Order: sequence, then structure tokens, then C-alpha cells
Amino acid sequence: MSEFKYDVMSERADEFIHDGEIRATLEYAQKACKDRALVEEILKKAEEGKGISHREAAVLIEVKDKEIEERIFAIARQLKEKIYGNRIVMFAPLYLSNHCVNGCVYCPYHAKNKTIPRRKLTQEEIRREVIALQDMGHKRLALETGEHPKLSPIEYVLESIDTIYSIHHKNGAIRRVNVNIAATTVENYTRLKDAGIGTYILFEETYNKAAYEQLHPTGPKSDWAYHTEAMDRAMLGGIDDVGVGALFGLSNYRYDVVGILMHAEHLEARFGVGPHTISVPRIRPADDIDPNDFPDAVTDEVFRRIVAVLRIAAPYTGMIVSTRESKACRELVLDVGVSQLSGGSKTSVGGYAEGIVDAEDSAQFDISDNRTLDEIVGWLLELGYIPSFCTACYREGRTGDRFMSLAKRGLIGNCCAPNALMTLAEYLEDYASPRVKIEGAKMIDRLTQIIPSDKVRRITMENLKAIAEGKRDFRF
Ligand code: SF4
Ligand code: SF4
Repeated sequence: MSEFKYDVMSERADEFIHDGEIRATLEYAQKACKDRALVEEILKKAEEGKGISHREAAVLIEVKDKEIEERIFAIARQLKEKIYGNRIVMFAPLYLSNHCVNGCVYCPYHAKNKTIPRRKLTQEEIRREVIALQDMGHKRLALETGEHPKLSPIEYVLESIDTIYSIHHKNGAIRRVNVNIAATTVENYTRLKDAGIGTYILFEETYNKAAYEQLHPTGPKSDWAYHTEAMDRAMLGGIDDVGVGALFGLSNYRYDVVGILMHAEHLEARFGVGPHTISVPRIRPADDIDPNDFPDAVTDEVFRRIVAVLRIAAPYTGMIVSTRESKACRELVLDVGVSQLSGGSKTSVGGYAEGIVDAEDSAQFDISDNRTLDEIVGWLLELGYIPSFCTACYREGRTGDRFMSLAKRGLIGNCCAPNALMTLAEYLEDYASPRVKIEGAKMIDRLTQIIPSDKVRRITMENLKAIAEGKRDFRF
């Protein structure tokens, strides 16, 4: 038992991610999941769309009844639809460097791996990567880099962000750069904020401190408290959109679901705004990494429940699934709450630009969904979702509590839908295959007609006309 007390407002990781509270929650959930009246009460609260607590979420994770499970899925689906509509926001990761001083046992970039080619992109190479990404149609990137104070200091990351925003190839532009770099200082978070980043993303990997310390035996990342308190420092540094997540399969998933939600409750309690996104990666094979070494691997069935329960517990939070997951699995989780997808991704340094050999050998993980962005856009259209390249909110100053206040009042969908249609129209004009162009145009025609506000519908129609005439970058 930890010597610290659970305190949602505490600045100390041991207190806001309190091991004793998580264990007590899991024990409580084992019994409470058999209490039908209590489960009904939690489902009723879930339907209201205001979120449920980590204790209530743990009960829904534990319920065995198949009928209840279907209701959990239905509520998750309805909440996502109600808050965000049927748009799915697209993004791609961009790996800058795989030099790393850490010893994370599940990642091929760990410092002791001698078999992986190491590289760090120059600004010219970043330019080539960004042009390749723009030529696919991407507008939103997640910047990734290993932790290496000498080879990839904050100055390198800041310079790279500047380079990325400065490139405009044909009609292309990267309009939002989210950043996933190692835990750092308040001062460095302020510098990232000033560089115009969207969300600062950092996965906890596992909230279980003992497991975390085993999985991170060496390097600065081995300091669990410093890592876990990173989002607090990011918020203190002025970044109000932060993205949390756990790498499912590293440790007990029940523990990590509760940990994610306690983290969200902490940020909401201390800063008045919870995480902007939750990511749910699962462990994948890679160079030097065999998922069979991780006995806590999560099945597709459990994974779907995790996504649904997180959606119910944190209804206003974006939920992200990457190309680590297969097409079939992505379809399952899109249906129960996922709102952002990566597409056409490369997880290797230099993977996008032509002529770079050995790129796949340096991949951080094997990709399950190898389809091109155009194939994914076509597939989403078939499933009835609007593939969206929208980046409007942070560019309109709708971040942190301003964003959450709109989301909580059910108003953000009024921006998401027309922005999705307009950015999809740009994609169709500039990058789509003929088949996707036809299907996308049908969806735009159909959905533009049913935009509820007369004013928004009129402006959207005018903007769509302007996009067809070659103008770009409209947003609500
Ligand atoms: Fe380095 Fe990140 Fe891989 Fe750990 S997970 S070895 S910090 S790149
Ligand atoms: Fe995301 Fe805001 Fe665009 Fe909706 S309007 S898709 S919340 S950036």
C-alpha cells in the first residue's frame, strides 16, 4: 500500500494516481458488477452523457452479461454521434528521429537495440516527408521522436515544427501539428505552445508504477512520477489541449483503464479541463519485440469494451486509434466511440518520402492497416462516416475549456459537420481517386442539405462552391 493518500487535486503522481485507490476500485468492481440495480443506475447515468467516475467505469469493464455489454456499446455509439456527429478526423504520424536514450523494453528504439538503423531527419528531409504527406492529402500530423537530449533537443523539435508549418506544396498545408515527445519542463512546454502546436500527447504506457519501473529500467523515462506529472507541467506551461493514453497489453488493462480516468479526473479537477484526447494503442510486434513476451495482451473483444467504456466515461474527449489496429478491429471500435484515425501511416523515420531505403527496417511497430489514405477515406465513406481533415478548433482559439464548454453543451458538432464536409471537398478536389471522388461528392451533397442552421448551410454551400473554383481553407 502506498504511503500517500488518494487526492484528485494533488500535484503528486503517487496521490492522484494512487495505487491503493486503483486496487480498491478493481476489488469493488468485482463485486459491484454482479449488482444488477447498481449496473442499471450506472447505465442510466451514462446515458445522460455527462460522464461516469473511474469506479463506475471499472464496474462496466467488469460486467459479464452480454445484453448489458450491447447496451454499453449502444450508449457509447449514441454519445459519440450526439457530441461529434459522424465525422472521423484523419491524421498521420511523422517520425523525426529514432535515437533514444531510454530502455523501454517494448519499443525497438530502446537504447540497447543495436540491430535497428538509427537516423534523425535533417530539415531538408523533413521537407520531403511533409511534401509526401501533403501529396497524400494530410493536414494534421502527430510529431514523434525518441528521447535524446543531445541529438533531438527541444530546439530541434521547435525548428522542425517551423519547417513543417512553412511548407505549402501545391494546395497542401499542414494546419495542425500535434506533438508526442518525452516529458519535459514547464519552460519547454511554453516553447512548444509558442511554436503553435495543437495537442501535446504523451502516453503513460502503464499507470501501474511497479510495472512501469520494470518496463522502463533505464533512462530519464524510468522516473514514473516525472512522466506521470508531465501533463500538469504542460498545463502550467500554457498547453491546454493534452492527449493521454496507455499502451494496452503492457500490464493489466483494468488497472490502466482506471488509471486513464483518474488522470482525466485529476486534470479536470486541478485545471478545469480534462484531456483533449485519449489514445488506446495496443502492443504490436516490431524489431526485437515479440508481443508474446507480454502476457497481458488484450483481445479484440476486450479492446472494444475498453473503447466503449472510455467513451462513456469521458464523452467529450477525442478517441484515437492508429494503424497498429487492423481494418476489422478499427471498424469494431469506430462503432463504439473512436473519433480520430491515422491513415497511410509510416512508423519509420523517413518512411514517407520516395527513394529512402531501409525505412521499414526502422519502424517503431508493425502496421496492421496498410491501406493508403485514399483507400481509408473510401472505406469510411462506405461505412457512412465523413472522413474529416478539419483542424479548425485550435486555429479558431477553441482550445482547453473553451472547446470543452462547447462540447459539453452539445454545440461542437455544429462546427464538426460543415468543417468535415468542406475539408473532405478539398481532399476530393486535390487528392482523391475517381471512385472516392464520386462517393465523397454524393455524401457532401446529401449531408449539406440537412445542416440544421440556415446560416451555416448557406455559408457551407458558398464555401463548397469556392473550393470547386480552387479556393482553400474555410472553417467554422
Ligand atoms: Fe524511446 Fe519512446 Fe521507444 Fe521508449 S517508447 S524507447 S522513449 S522511442
Ligand atoms: Fe475537431 Fe473542432 Fe474540427 Fe470538430 S470542429 S473536427 S472538434 S477541430
